[in-house]
Amino acid sequence: MRIAILGAGLSGLVLAEQLQDCAELVLFDKSHGVGGRMATRRADDFAFDHGAQFFTARSKAFRRFLLPLVETGVIAQWEPRVLTLAAGEKPYKRDWFEPHYVAVPGMTALCKALAEPHVLQLECCVTGITPVEHAGIRKWQLMTSAGPAGEPFDWVLSTLPAPKMQMLFEDHLHTFPFDVQQSLAEVVLSPCFALMLGFAAPLSLSFDAARIKHPVLDWVSVNNSKPGRSASTALVLHSSASWARENTDNEKDWVAEQMLAAFQSVLPATLPAPQLQVLHRWMYASVEQPLEHSSVLQTGVRLGFCGDWCTGSSVEAAFTSAMHLAAQLKTQL
Ligand SMILES: Cc1cc2nc3c(=O)[nH]c(=O)nc-3n(C[C@H](O)[C@H](O)[C@H](O)COP(=O)(O)OP(=O)(O)OC[C@H]3O[C@@H](n4cnc5c(N)ncnc54)[C@H](O)[C@@H]3O)c2cc1C
Repeated sequence: MRIAILGAGLSGLVLAEQLQDCAELVLFDKSHGVGGRMATRRADDFAFDHGAQFFTARSKAFRRFLLPLVETGVIAQWEPRVLTLAAGEKPYKRDWFEPHYVAVPGMTALCKALAEPHVLQLECCVTGITPVEHAGIRKWQLMTSAGPAGEPFDWVLSTLPAPKMQMLFEDHLHTFPFDVQQSLAEVVLSPCFALMLGFAAPLSLSFDAARIKHPVLDWVSVNNSKPGRSASTALVLHSSASWARENTDNEKDWVAEQMLAAFQSVLPATLPAPQLQVLHRWMYASVEQPLEHSSVLQTGVRLGFCGDWCTGSSVEAAFTSAMHLAAQLKTQL
Protein backbone atom coordinates (compact mmCIF):
# COMPACT_ATOMS: atom_id res chain seq x y z
CA MET A 1 0.00 0.00 0.00
CA ARG A 2 1.53 3.32 -1.13
CA ILE A 3 0.25 6.67 0.09
CA ALA A 4 1.28 10.08 -1.26
CA ILE A 5 1.01 12.94 1.23
CA LEU A 6 1.01 16.35 -0.43
CA GLY A 7 2.55 19.02 1.80
CA ALA A 8 5.11 18.64 4.58
CA GLY A 9 3.72 21.24 6.96
CA LEU A 10 2.34 20.16 10.33
CA SER A 11 -0.76 18.51 8.81
CA GLY A 12 1.28 16.37 6.40
CA LEU A 13 3.77 15.35 9.06
CA VAL A 14 1.10 14.45 11.62
CA LEU A 15 -0.58 12.32 8.94
CA ALA A 16 2.76 10.63 8.25
CA GLU A 17 3.35 9.96 11.93
CA GLN A 18 -0.09 8.41 12.31
CA LEU A 19 0.07 6.27 9.15
CA GLN A 20 3.71 5.18 9.17
CA ASP A 21 2.96 1.65 10.37
CA CYS A 22 0.13 1.11 7.88
CA ALA A 23 1.67 1.95 4.50
CA GLU A 24 4.66 3.06 2.48
CA LEU A 25 4.55 6.86 2.59
CA VAL A 26 6.10 9.58 0.45
CA LEU A 27 5.69 13.24 1.37
CA PHE A 28 5.92 15.87 -1.37
CA ASP A 29 6.55 19.55 -0.78
CA LYS A 30 7.27 22.35 -3.21
CA SER A 31 9.55 24.13 -0.72
CA HIS A 32 13.19 23.33 -0.05
CA GLY A 33 12.41 22.47 3.56
CA VAL A 34 9.58 21.17 5.73
CA GLY A 35 7.28 23.22 7.97
CA GLY A 36 5.01 25.12 5.56
CA ARG A 37 3.63 28.12 7.40
CA MET A 38 5.55 27.14 10.56
CA ALA A 39 8.50 28.83 8.93
CA THR A 40 11.84 30.31 9.97
CA ARG A 41 13.92 32.54 7.70
CA ARG A 42 17.61 33.05 8.48
CA ALA A 43 19.70 35.88 7.03
CA ASP A 44 23.11 37.08 8.26
CA ASP A 45 22.96 36.61 12.07
CA PHE A 46 19.21 37.10 12.16
CA ALA A 47 16.42 34.54 12.44
CA PHE A 48 12.74 35.30 11.90
CA ASP A 49 9.66 33.15 12.43
CA HIS A 50 7.79 34.91 9.66
CA GLY A 51 4.73 32.61 9.61
CA ALA A 52 3.16 31.14 12.76
CA GLN A 53 4.27 33.10 15.83
CA PHE A 54 3.31 30.69 18.59
CA PHE A 55 0.66 28.09 19.24
CA THR A 56 -1.67 27.07 22.01
CA ALA A 57 -2.78 23.56 22.93
CA ARG A 58 -6.39 23.42 24.05
CA SER A 59 -7.26 19.79 23.36
CA LYS A 60 -6.00 16.89 25.43
CA ALA A 61 -4.89 15.11 22.24
CA PHE A 62 -2.65 18.01 21.17
CA ARG A 63 -1.19 18.41 24.66
CA ARG A 64 -0.43 14.65 24.71
CA PHE A 65 1.23 14.93 21.28
CA LEU A 66 3.38 17.88 22.42
CA LEU A 67 4.50 16.37 25.73
CA PRO A 68 7.54 14.39 24.43
CA LEU A 69 8.51 17.38 22.28
CA VAL A 70 8.47 19.62 25.36
CA GLU A 71 10.54 17.04 27.26
CA THR A 72 13.18 16.89 24.52
CA GLY A 73 13.31 20.69 24.19
CA VAL A 74 11.91 20.82 20.64
CA ILE A 75 9.04 22.90 22.04
CA ALA A 76 9.21 25.52 24.79
CA GLN A 77 6.90 28.05 26.34
CA TRP A 78 7.23 31.67 25.27
CA GLU A 79 6.32 34.21 27.94
CA PRO A 80 6.64 37.60 26.25
CA ARG A 81 5.63 41.01 27.52
CA VAL A 82 2.55 41.61 25.36
CA LEU A 83 0.98 45.00 24.67
CA THR A 84 -1.68 46.48 22.46
CA LEU A 85 -0.31 49.43 20.48
CA ALA A 86 -2.27 52.16 18.72
CA ALA A 87 -1.26 55.56 17.37
CA GLY A 88 -1.89 58.33 19.91
CA GLU A 89 -3.03 55.89 22.60
CA LYS A 90 -1.25 54.71 25.71
CA PRO A 91 -0.11 51.09 25.17
CA TYR A 92 -1.94 48.61 27.35
CA LYS A 93 -0.85 45.26 28.66
CA ARG A 94 -2.46 42.07 27.37
CA ASP A 95 -2.55 39.04 29.62
CA TRP A 96 -2.15 35.56 28.21
CA PHE A 97 -4.04 33.08 30.35
CA GLU A 98 -2.76 29.84 28.79
CA PRO A 99 0.67 28.54 27.75
CA HIS A 100 1.93 29.76 24.38
CA TYR A 101 4.45 27.46 22.73
CA VAL A 102 7.16 27.92 20.12
CA ALA A 103 9.54 25.45 18.53
CA VAL A 104 13.26 25.84 19.37
CA PRO A 105 15.51 27.23 17.96
CA GLY A 106 13.05 28.26 15.21
CA MET A 107 9.44 27.50 14.33
CA THR A 108 10.48 24.95 11.68
CA ALA A 109 12.18 22.81 14.36
CA LEU A 110 8.93 21.04 15.25
CA CYS A 111 8.32 19.86 11.68
CA LYS A 112 12.00 19.03 11.19
CA ALA A 113 11.84 16.71 14.23
CA LEU A 114 8.64 15.06 12.96
CA ALA A 115 10.06 14.66 9.43
CA GLU A 116 13.16 12.70 10.45
CA PRO A 117 11.86 9.14 9.86
CA HIS A 118 10.02 9.86 6.61
CA VAL A 119 10.70 9.78 2.87
CA LEU A 120 10.52 13.34 1.58
CA GLN A 121 10.50 14.73 -1.92
CA LEU A 122 11.33 18.39 -1.41
CA GLU A 123 11.39 21.13 -4.04
CA CYS A 124 8.85 18.96 -5.77
CA CYS A 125 5.66 20.80 -6.65
CA VAL A 126 2.75 18.42 -7.35
CA THR A 127 1.07 19.66 -10.51
CA GLY A 128 -1.47 16.93 -11.29
CA ILE A 129 -2.95 13.57 -10.36
CA THR A 130 -4.14 11.06 -12.97
CA PRO A 131 -5.97 7.77 -12.39
CA VAL A 132 -4.10 4.79 -13.90
CA GLU A 133 -4.63 1.01 -14.05
CA HIS A 134 -1.70 -0.70 -12.35
CA ALA A 135 -1.67 -4.52 -12.21
CA GLY A 136 -5.46 -4.44 -12.59
CA ILE A 137 -5.93 -1.97 -9.73
CA ARG A 138 -6.93 1.68 -10.03
CA LYS A 139 -4.17 3.91 -8.68
CA TRP A 140 -2.95 7.52 -8.88
CA GLN A 141 -0.02 8.75 -10.92
CA LEU A 142 1.37 11.98 -9.55
CA MET A 143 2.80 14.62 -11.88
CA THR A 144 5.34 16.96 -10.34
CA SER A 145 7.49 19.87 -11.44
CA ALA A 146 10.25 17.24 -11.90
CA GLY A 147 8.08 14.90 -14.03
CA PRO A 148 6.05 11.79 -13.07
CA ALA A 149 6.59 10.76 -9.44
CA GLY A 150 7.73 7.14 -9.84
CA GLU A 151 5.38 4.26 -9.04
CA PRO A 152 1.67 5.11 -8.75
CA PHE A 153 0.03 5.49 -5.34
CA ASP A 154 -3.02 3.75 -3.85
CA TRP A 155 -4.14 6.86 -1.97
CA VAL A 156 -3.43 10.58 -2.36
CA LEU A 157 -3.88 12.76 0.72
CA SER A 158 -3.61 16.52 0.30
CA THR A 159 -2.75 19.03 3.02
CA LEU A 160 -2.44 21.92 0.56
CA PRO A 161 -4.37 25.18 0.99
CA ALA A 162 -7.97 24.83 -0.26
CA PRO A 163 -7.57 26.62 -3.63
CA LYS A 164 -4.52 24.51 -4.55
CA MET A 165 -6.19 21.26 -3.48
CA GLN A 166 -9.27 22.20 -5.50
CA MET A 167 -7.14 22.77 -8.60
CA LEU A 168 -5.35 19.44 -8.21
CA PHE A 169 -8.47 17.40 -7.40
CA GLU A 170 -10.67 19.38 -9.83
CA ASP A 171 -11.63 16.48 -12.11
CA HIS A 172 -12.52 14.26 -9.15
CA LEU A 173 -14.31 16.61 -6.75
CA HIS A 174 -17.70 15.69 -8.27
CA THR A 175 -17.26 12.27 -6.62
CA PHE A 176 -17.19 13.95 -3.18
CA PRO A 177 -20.42 14.42 -1.20
CA PHE A 178 -22.46 17.43 -2.30
CA ASP A 179 -22.24 19.19 1.07
CA VAL A 180 -18.41 19.02 0.86
CA GLN A 181 -18.39 20.59 -2.59
CA GLN A 182 -20.74 23.31 -1.39
CA SER A 183 -18.68 24.02 1.74
CA LEU A 184 -15.46 24.11 -0.31
CA ALA A 185 -16.89 26.91 -2.42
CA GLU A 186 -17.37 28.95 0.77
CA VAL A 187 -13.85 28.54 2.24
CA VAL A 188 -12.05 31.89 2.49
CA LEU A 189 -8.31 32.18 3.13
CA SER A 190 -6.58 35.53 3.72
CA PRO A 191 -3.17 36.78 2.65
CA CYS A 192 -0.62 38.44 4.92
CA PHE A 193 2.63 40.34 4.41
CA ALA A 194 5.47 39.57 6.83
CA LEU A 195 8.14 42.23 7.13
CA MET A 196 11.36 41.00 8.74
CA LEU A 197 13.65 43.65 10.25
CA GLY A 198 17.16 43.01 11.61
CA PHE A 199 18.86 45.69 13.73
CA ALA A 200 22.57 46.22 14.37
CA ALA A 201 22.02 46.93 18.10
CA PRO A 202 19.38 46.02 20.70
CA LEU A 203 16.28 48.25 20.69
CA SER A 204 14.78 49.58 23.85
CA LEU A 205 11.18 48.43 23.46
CA SER A 206 8.63 47.98 26.24
CA PHE A 207 7.21 44.78 24.65
CA ASP A 208 8.26 41.45 23.17
CA ALA A 209 5.07 41.11 21.17
CA ALA A 210 2.14 43.39 20.43
CA ARG A 211 -1.23 43.45 18.74
CA ILE A 212 -1.35 46.61 16.65
CA LYS A 213 -4.53 48.60 16.12
CA HIS A 214 -3.80 50.05 12.69
CA PRO A 215 -5.37 49.51 9.24
CA VAL A 216 -2.00 48.33 7.84
CA LEU A 217 -0.61 46.23 10.70
CA ASP A 218 -1.85 43.54 12.98
CA TRP A 219 1.11 42.19 14.94
CA VAL A 220 4.76 42.62 15.84
CA SER A 221 7.06 40.26 17.66
CA VAL A 222 10.62 40.56 18.85
CA ASN A 223 11.74 37.23 17.54
CA ASN A 224 14.88 37.08 19.66
CA SER A 225 12.72 37.19 22.81
CA LYS A 226 11.61 33.63 22.05
CA PRO A 227 13.53 30.86 23.80
CA GLY A 228 16.70 29.52 22.15
CA ARG A 229 17.00 32.25 19.49
CA SER A 230 20.19 34.08 18.52
CA ALA A 231 20.67 37.37 20.37
CA SER A 232 20.56 39.55 17.23
CA THR A 233 17.58 41.91 17.33
CA ALA A 234 15.00 40.57 14.86
CA LEU A 235 11.48 41.95 14.51
CA VAL A 236 8.61 40.39 12.58
CA LEU A 237 5.71 42.64 11.50
CA HIS A 238 2.50 41.13 10.14
CA SER A 239 0.12 43.17 8.03
CA SER A 240 -3.62 43.06 8.55
CA ALA A 241 -5.43 40.62 6.26
CA SER A 242 -7.65 43.30 4.69
CA TRP A 243 -4.71 45.56 3.84
CA ALA A 244 -2.76 42.61 2.40
CA ARG A 245 -5.74 41.71 0.23
CA GLU A 246 -6.01 45.28 -1.11
CA ASN A 247 -2.29 45.46 -1.81
CA THR A 248 -1.43 41.90 -2.83
CA ASP A 249 0.08 42.92 -6.16
CA ASN A 250 1.79 46.12 -5.10
CA GLU A 251 5.56 46.64 -5.33
CA LYS A 252 7.36 44.91 -2.47
CA ASP A 253 9.42 48.03 -1.61
CA TRP A 254 6.27 50.14 -1.36
CA VAL A 255 4.57 47.53 0.84
CA ALA A 256 7.60 47.40 3.17
CA GLU A 257 7.71 51.22 3.35
CA GLN A 258 4.01 51.42 4.31
CA MET A 259 4.39 48.75 6.97
CA LEU A 260 7.46 50.41 8.47
CA ALA A 261 5.70 53.80 8.53
CA ALA A 262 2.65 52.26 10.20
CA PHE A 263 4.85 50.62 12.83
CA GLN A 264 6.68 53.89 13.48
CA SER A 265 3.32 55.62 14.00
CA VAL A 266 2.47 53.44 17.01
CA LEU A 267 5.92 53.78 18.66
CA PRO A 268 6.84 56.52 21.16
CA ALA A 269 10.37 57.00 19.73
CA THR A 270 12.05 56.93 16.32
CA LEU A 271 13.13 53.49 15.21
CA PRO A 272 16.73 53.29 13.92
CA ALA A 273 17.18 52.20 10.29
CA PRO A 274 17.22 48.41 10.08
CA GLN A 275 20.39 46.67 8.94
CA LEU A 276 18.32 44.05 7.15
CA GLN A 277 14.82 44.24 5.70
CA VAL A 278 13.04 41.36 3.96
CA LEU A 279 9.40 41.13 2.89
CA HIS A 280 7.49 37.89 2.42
CA ARG A 281 3.97 37.58 1.04
CA TRP A 282 1.81 34.72 2.32
CA MET A 283 -0.98 34.13 -0.19
CA TYR A 284 -2.92 31.81 2.12
CA ALA A 285 -1.94 32.84 5.63
CA SER A 286 -5.07 32.53 7.72
CA VAL A 287 -8.58 31.17 7.48
CA GLU A 288 -11.52 33.57 7.46
CA GLN A 289 -14.14 30.94 6.67
CA PRO A 290 -13.24 27.30 7.36
CA LEU A 291 -14.71 24.24 5.66
CA GLU A 292 -16.58 23.07 8.78
CA HIS A 293 -15.66 19.40 8.10
CA SER A 294 -12.73 18.18 10.23
CA SER A 295 -11.24 16.46 7.19
CA VAL A 296 -12.60 14.66 4.12
CA LEU A 297 -11.91 11.14 2.88
CA GLN A 298 -13.46 9.86 -0.33
CA THR A 299 -12.96 6.11 -0.14
CA GLY A 300 -14.45 5.45 -3.61
CA VAL A 301 -11.63 7.25 -5.40
CA ARG A 302 -9.09 7.00 -2.57
CA LEU A 303 -8.52 10.71 -2.14
CA GLY A 304 -8.53 12.69 1.05
CA PHE A 305 -7.67 16.10 2.34
CA CYS A 306 -7.08 17.92 5.60
CA GLY A 307 -5.38 21.10 6.82
CA ASP A 308 -5.94 23.92 9.27
CA TRP A 309 -8.53 25.48 6.94
CA CYS A 310 -10.87 22.51 7.46
CA THR A 311 -11.77 23.69 10.95
CA GLY A 312 -9.81 26.76 12.01
CA SER A 313 -6.78 28.92 11.49
CA SER A 314 -4.09 27.62 13.78
CA VAL A 315 -1.36 25.08 14.31
CA GLU A 316 -3.71 23.17 16.60
CA ALA A 317 -6.42 23.16 13.90
CA ALA A 318 -3.89 21.62 11.47
CA PHE A 319 -3.06 18.91 14.03
CA THR A 320 -6.72 18.16 14.76
CA SER A 321 -7.63 17.93 11.09
CA ALA A 322 -4.72 15.60 10.27
CA MET A 323 -5.55 13.34 13.24
CA HIS A 324 -9.13 13.15 12.03
CA LEU A 325 -8.14 12.17 8.49
CA ALA A 326 -5.65 9.57 9.73
CA ALA A 327 -8.27 8.00 11.99
CA GLN A 328 -10.76 7.80 9.10
CA LEU A 329 -8.19 6.28 6.77
CA LYS A 330 -6.97 3.69 9.29
CA THR A 331 -10.43 2.12 9.26
CA GLN A 332 -9.97 1.52 5.49
CA LEU A 333 -6.45 0.07 5.42
C1 LIG B 1 1.68 34.99 8.84
C2 LIG B 1 1.11 33.81 9.58
C3 LIG B 1 0.92 33.90 10.97
C4 LIG B 1 0.40 32.81 11.68
N1 LIG B 1 0.31 32.88 13.03
C5 LIG B 1 -0.11 31.81 13.72
C6 LIG B 1 -0.06 31.80 15.14
O1 LIG B 1 0.43 32.73 15.76
N2 LIG B 1 -0.56 30.71 15.79
C7 LIG B 1 -1.05 29.62 15.13
O2 LIG B 1 -1.47 28.65 15.76
N3 LIG B 1 -1.07 29.60 13.78
C8 LIG B 1 -0.60 30.65 13.07
N4 LIG B 1 -0.58 30.61 11.71
C9 LIG B 1 -1.22 29.49 11.03
C10 LIG B 1 -0.35 28.22 11.05
O3 LIG B 1 0.92 28.51 10.54
C11 LIG B 1 -1.05 27.18 10.20
O4 LIG B 1 -2.36 26.97 10.72
C12 LIG B 1 -0.36 25.82 10.15
O5 LIG B 1 1.03 25.95 10.03
C13 LIG B 1 -0.97 25.06 8.97
O6 LIG B 1 -0.29 23.84 8.74
P1 LIG B 1 -0.71 22.95 7.48
O7 LIG B 1 0.23 21.80 7.44
O8 LIG B 1 -2.17 22.66 7.52
O9 LIG B 1 -0.48 23.89 6.20
P2 LIG B 1 0.88 24.47 5.62
O10 LIG B 1 1.84 24.74 6.71
O11 LIG B 1 0.50 25.60 4.72
O12 LIG B 1 1.45 23.26 4.74
C14 LIG B 1 1.08 23.04 3.41
C15 LIG B 1 2.34 22.64 2.64
O13 LIG B 1 1.96 22.34 1.29
C16 LIG B 1 3.03 22.74 0.44
N5 LIG B 1 2.52 22.89 -0.90
C17 LIG B 1 1.64 23.81 -1.38
N6 LIG B 1 1.36 23.56 -2.69
C18 LIG B 1 2.06 22.45 -3.03
C19 LIG B 1 2.17 21.68 -4.22
N7 LIG B 1 1.47 21.98 -5.34
N8 LIG B 1 2.99 20.60 -4.23
C20 LIG B 1 3.68 20.25 -3.10
N9 LIG B 1 3.61 20.94 -1.95
C21 LIG B 1 2.80 22.02 -1.91
C22 LIG B 1 3.52 24.04 1.07
O14 LIG B 1 4.85 24.33 0.68
C23 LIG B 1 3.40 23.74 2.56
O15 LIG B 1 4.61 23.24 3.09
C24 LIG B 1 0.00 31.64 10.98
C25 LIG B 1 0.24 31.55 9.60
C26 LIG B 1 0.80 32.61 8.92
C27 LIG B 1 1.11 32.47 7.46
